[in-house]
Amino acid sequence: MHNEAMDSGPRLDPADWEEFRALGKRIVDDIADHLAGLRERPVWQPVPEDVQASLRTGLPAKGTPMAEVYDEFRTTVLPYPRGNIHPRFWGWANGSGVPVAAYGDLLASVINCTLGSGGNAAMMVEQQVIEWLKEALGWPAAGSGLLTSGASMGQVTALAAARVAKGPAAFRDEGAVASGAQFTVYGSAETHHSVDKAVELLGIGRRFFRKVPVDRDYRIDTGALRAAIRADREAGLHPLCLIGNAGTVNTGAVDPLRTLLEIAREEDLWYHVDGAFGAFARLLPSHHALLDGMTEADSLVCDLHKWLYMPFDVSCVLTRDEGLLEAAFSSSADYISTTAGGPAAYPLAFSDRGIEQSRRFRALKVWFALKTHGIEAFAGAVAANIAQVAHLAARAEAAADLELVARSELNVACFRYVWPGAAPEAADRVNRGILNRLQTEGLAMPSHTVLDGKFVIRVADNNHRTDVTDFDFLIDQVRALGAELRAAEEAGPAGATPGAGGR
Ligand SMILES: *Cc1c(COP(=O)(O)O)cnc(C)c1O
Repeated sequence: MHNEAMDSGPRLDPADWEEFRALGKRIVDDIADHLAGLRERPVWQPVPEDVQASLRTGLPAKGTPMAEVYDEFRTTVLPYPRGNIHPRFWGWANGSGVPVAAYGDLLASVINCTLGSGGNAAMMVEQQVIEWLKEALGWPAAGSGLLTSGASMGQVTALAAARVAKGPAAFRDEGAVASGAQFTVYGSAETHHSVDKAVELLGIGRRFFRKVPVDRDYRIDTGALRAAIRADREAGLHPLCLIGNAGTVNTGAVDPLRTLLEIAREEDLWYHVDGAFGAFARLLPSHHALLDGMTEADSLVCDLHKWLYMPFDVSCVLTRDEGLLEAAFSSSADYISTTAGGPAAYPLAFSDRGIEQSRRFRALKVWFALKTHGIEAFAGAVAANIAQVAHLAARAEAAADLELVARSELNVACFRYVWPGAAPEAADRVNRGILNRLQTEGLAMPSHTVLDGKFVIRVADNNHRTDVTDFDFLIDQVRALGAELRAAEEAGPAGATPGAGGR
């Protein structure tokens, strides 16, 4: 007998596909208007109290028509985003999001494939995207790879592969303690904190990640590196992995990657390059020399959601040879064993290359965007960002009231407002105040860092929507706000504006 309680389909699929279609058309119309009008909106604005309250309501027990839910999104979420799709967002290391990729993401959810294993077109798309990335970056054809959620996940994955490739044979079965290895990892003091997380998670211990000092250009001091490796060997430790930075997050510095490669080979270390954003400068022949050595590393991470402008999240970890990731991650279980025919006959399992078993179809947005625009358009956008930051750096250098504190050959520059005789604390207060005003007034979104003890305004241009005039605007705003806040500073505490305080 038919029992309605057993019918789940009609509850969660639309009761009326025409209603579903109509809302979809409206959403796509609104998307186009939204993206076309980005420049007219503030880069960022705080989420008002009442909106925050509306985002803290209880679990909905009963449904609401989907069009009403969408309207709620339009008033509570859409106006208050992080801001990184705006042309004047240059904070941290975020990407701007290629619109056509969003269609890929939508369709990935519609077909809802999980990319652990199995013979299906989605698996083949990810394989193809990895091949394209290898070609675009000049990575050896024999190499392998995996799309991940981010470079943080890529670092853990690569270091786990390093541990198996260069550690004791019993490592996977016996673990660190029984196999007796105390590994050490090396990288510059400017290395991204995701490596700290990775060494901690892998049981290596933060203390054994040797943060080697940097030179005046924030590049690893190779003499200090060699000494550290030697000292560790003498102490009976097991040097495992050397990390080279192709673009540090603070200043965009690129370590001497070829020299590091040579040291890694001499010392029999796994050589991992963190190219989270910087790897994509390899799209430009002008930057091959800067990145020389990168493509001979044992592993590389690059974030497509940064300097390849893909929507979050998608990153890639590449290895030099086939099988290195499987050596670290493959596992067997009856329910995932292969069969003679059908989907389970497929020889590749991405779930054997990393931590995740269920994996979203991240490759589809990349496939859409690369096919639609071609790699040359991406190379052109990367070149434009480099030229824009060079322009910003030149203007900061030329202005008497600005100090260029660090620049890179990539897309990062750090500068600050200065005036003669400024006390260090006063200069920091004024620059904090400038940044606060830029951000809270929605004018522009650089971020900050501290270099040589100085608070600096930091620009990282991973933005395909930025125009060079946006940086002229930024310079003008910083100078005007700087003059205003300096005057308030000199008038004493009574004259200080609220924005000039701490954070
Ligand atoms: C962003 C970044 C990371 C971490 O990558 P996620 O994608 O945020 O996990 C690592 N290294 C560098 C240099 C980065 O810029």
